[in-house]
Amino acid sequence: MKLPIYLDNHATTPVDPRVLEAMLLYFTENFGNAASRNHQFGWTAAAAVENARKQVAKLINAGTKEIVFTSGASESDNLALKGVAHRYRDRGDHIITAATEHKAVLDSAARLAQEGFRVTYARLRPDGLVDLDDLMRAITEKTLLVSIMAANNEIGVLQPLSEIGRMCRERRVLFHTDAAQATGKIPLDVEAMHIDLLSIAGHKMYAPKGVGALYVRRRAAQVDLEPIIDGGGHEGGLRSGTLNVPGIVGLGKACEICRQEMPEESRRLAGLRDRLKDGLLARLDGIHFNGSLEHRLPNNLSVSFPGIDPPTLMAAMSDIALSSGSACTSEKPEPSYVLQALGVPAEIAGTPLRFGLGRFTTQEEIDYCLNRVAETVKRLREMGRIAAA
Ligand SMILES: *Cc1c(COP(=O)(O)O)cnc(C)c1O
Repeated sequence: MKLPIYLDNHATTPVDPRVLEAMLLYFTENFGNAASRNHQFGWTAAAAVENARKQVAKLINAGTKEIVFTSGASESDNLALKGVAHRYRDRGDHIITAATEHKAVLDSAARLAQEGFRVTYARLRPDGLVDLDDLMRAITEKTLLVSIMAANNEIGVLQPLSEIGRMCRERRVLFHTDAAQATGKIPLDVEAMHIDLLSIAGHKMYAPKGVGALYVRRRAAQVDLEPIIDGGGHEGGLRSGTLNVPGIVGLGKACEICRQEMPEESRRLAGLRDRLKDGLLARLDGIHFNGSLEHRLPNNLSVSFPGIDPPTLMAAMSDIALSSGSACTSEKPEPSYVLQALGVPAEIAGTPLRFGLGRFTTQEEIDYCLNRVAETVKRLREMGRIAAA
């Protein structure tokens, strides 16, 4: 077993060697610009992009023409929210989201609020799921879009996408879901779930950083967007800029692997995650698991250790790569905004540790980690008792 052990797969994942292998030729031999229409180099690149588009579409039961390649889920979220708001501004001025969304959604919504749109944050239950009755009541004649994430990046909670999708379809409101953490981890079906827009991040699913996609409904009840990046009219005019061909090939391959391996891999991950949970419970008292344990990503566990400061705990375990919350906000130690939004007490919201298991996590690593975490928590508690005495 190699140290340090990586358990921060919600922040980013390594590139799968099979993904890298698929990409390599597109840096060197097949380096063409996918928009070059007049020669073999361009045709080869364009064919690779279209193959990747099929692979991405297939994973979420979309049509090939409905996939727009972007630089990642942040860009996809921005394009979905701002694109819908700006395109349909004459039809309404209201957007609904939730306080536990990723900053790419929250900050896009805040920007739209500055422009005069109204934003409602749907109520959340203590287990992290949106309150569907509250969401239903929040929809008005002026509502353009509901944006609710598929899986939370801190606490791994899965939202009831089918129910939200059905509700939005009935009320003729567009439904966007940020699926950066969910794509390739749980089954997603944009048709069955009535999803109109869906954000994907390559680097959360074993493809490289800097590539992602936005699914945009183009079949029945087509969605139109105002682009953010203007230029050569790439990606159906929705996202100009020379395509990142190697990255896109990698994303496609990553989607194919996830589709093939998901059933078995999610069982394996849930088994390891439960081993971690049960092991911690057996060794430690006074710990708290955050978010629904039932509606949860198979690779996530969020645990609070009241009385213990996560930076201190993590510093005492430099052989394990963990984080306390989302990578984007963990610069300064603040209580988790996600847990605060669920109304959990400060001593729990302030002390979460996020375990993000991944494709390369082994049982040996989990056993090492749970012993190490339990030992360290006990030692820090003992030190706290001595200091207080
Ligand atoms: C990582 C993440 C993002 C941002 O994706 P990037 O590709 O890094 O821009 C957005 N939403 C969620 C839920 C994420 O986990």
